[in-house]
Amino acid sequence: MTDLFSAPPGLPPRSTLRRDCVACGACCSAPDITALSKPLGVACRHLEAFQPGVGCLCRIYAARPPVCRSYAPDWVCGEVAPLPTLEARTQRFLDLYGLEGGGAPAGGLSP
Ligand code: SF4
Ligand code: SF4
Repeated sequence: MTDLFSAPPGLPPRSTLRRDCVACGACCSAPDITALSKPLGVACRHLEAFQPGVGCLCRIYAARPPVCRSYAPDWVCGEVAPLPTLEARTQRFLDLYGLEGGGAPAGGLSP
């Protein structure tokens, strides 16, 4: 079985240190999500602002769409979650996948 937390070759082993979701918000901000009409690099409209000790939570968590329900933390979390702002986490997420963000990433929701 594939270990979702095994980083691809060439990425540093710190990826394996993060093995759960810490609500960093990057996966709700970086990817485009058709079901939510969410463009690349723009925070989901349902993402709450960062709260210390809590992180960035989903305002509609109980009713979030299947694409969000099926998303699982993986090695990317270890690459993005430690970064200090949502903007930085979003940018790192985009960079890891070789994507170009469209608008104002995660504005107002930092860190
Ligand atoms: S990128 Fe990983 S740690 Fe951050 S919110 Fe998504 S699943 Fe959680
Ligand atoms: S609906 Fe919730 S879980 Fe899905 S991208 Fe938006 S904030 Fe994240």
